[in-house]
Amino acid sequence: MESLLDRFCRYVQIDTQANENAAGYPSVPGQLELGRMLASELRAMGIDNVAQDKHGIVLATLPATVQHEAPTVALIAHLDTSPETTGKNVKPIVHRNFAGGDIVLPGDPSKVIRVAECPELATMKGKTLVTTDGTTLLGADDKAGIAVIMETAAYLTAHPEIPHGPIRVCFTCDEEIGRGVDHLDLAKIGARVGYTLDGGGVGEIDGETFSADLAVVTITGVNIHPAIAKGRMLNAIRLASAFVARLPWQALSPETTAEREGFLHPYRIEGGVGAVTLRILLRDFDTARLADKAKLLATVAELLKAEHPRAQIDIKVTPQYRNMAEGLAKEPRALDFAEQAMRRAGVEPRRTIVRGGTDGSRLTELGLPTPNLSTGEHNLHSPLEWTCLEEMATAVKVLIELAQIWGEVRA
Ligand SMILES: [Zn+2]
Repeated sequence: MESLLDRFCRYVQIDTQANENAAGYPSVPGQLELGRMLASELRAMGIDNVAQDKHGIVLATLPATVQHEAPTVALIAHLDTSPETTGKNVKPIVHRNFAGGDIVLPGDPSKVIRVAECPELATMKGKTLVTTDGTTLLGADDKAGIAVIMETAAYLTAHPEIPHGPIRVCFTCDEEIGRGVDHLDLAKIGARVGYTLDGGGVGEIDGETFSADLAVVTITGVNIHPAIAKGRMLNAIRLASAFVARLPWQALSPETTAEREGFLHPYRIEGGVGAVTLRILLRDFDTARLADKAKLLATVAELLKAEHPRAQIDIKVTPQYRNMAEGLAKEPRALDFAEQAMRRAGVEPRRTIVRGGTDGSRLTELGLPTPNLSTGEHNLHSPLEWTCLEEMATAVKVLIELAQIWGEVRA
């Protein structure tokens, strides 16, 4: 546990905050720095085929310890942290033998992790928690996942008597800005199954995500000086307002839906009198129902055009990612073995759904079935982020069991 804690506290101090506005890959050099550090630690464990490619992706392989040919299992975590809160000068605070109650963060006492807002905190008495000082994020998303995978690799290399097939360690970049899979080479990973270690709490197996499309609606009006606008101007801002006003809000919006309900979410608007661009997220667990949502947009556009014949409204829908359940159905062992591994590690597994996407949604779609596992993350993307050492240690145990269960399979 101490070495797991030490790893985590070291990794979070390297600033790897992803930057959406950077064109390069990875988006910030800190991700390369952390990747280099992990690669050298993997080499120090005695693993010899460790590589960090030109995109910053780290790949390493723990050779099989079983004699038969067993499937390769990929363990995946992302090096970057969320752009939403700064990751510079992270000062992790370790709360040993946690006394319970609210946690006031000393660097900014206005930041308080409250039991009322975070009920799982009530179950943490006596455990070891790690928080920030309140001025940054912690980066447990996803450095908890990295520390868990590194500790698993260290344990397995130190215990060659544990039977397992080939284990591929894979650290990706820029997951938080949707570029996590951009430069991943599935042939190079060459795995039968993957697991992202990027989940909340303990005992959760995410086997379903949203299916996602992006709609870009371009509304073109007619711009002219207001002095001579009578009968001539067609204000795209008014058209865009009318467009948004006709989208469902009391239903089918993120503000009013939960669980398995899908939504349409206008999240960005740009432009002026001449033209306005609206970006709208379409989300549903049932991929076929994304088409209904796109159709709704088309209907609103037709109605507006009928009322304003000079208006031009173009809608472009592009796929983003697909519900991983579709791909996981082809390899049910991905979830079944994760459940077994959790039970062997003393945890009651729960199959959960993600109202969003993961690197695993894209990977599964591309042919590598990749559910997501609990890694002890809490209050993601916020200065109130925290993690529990015991939950991270459980995740290590789960991976060690999982490696053995897959090791029993004959490829
Ligand atoms: Zn993450």
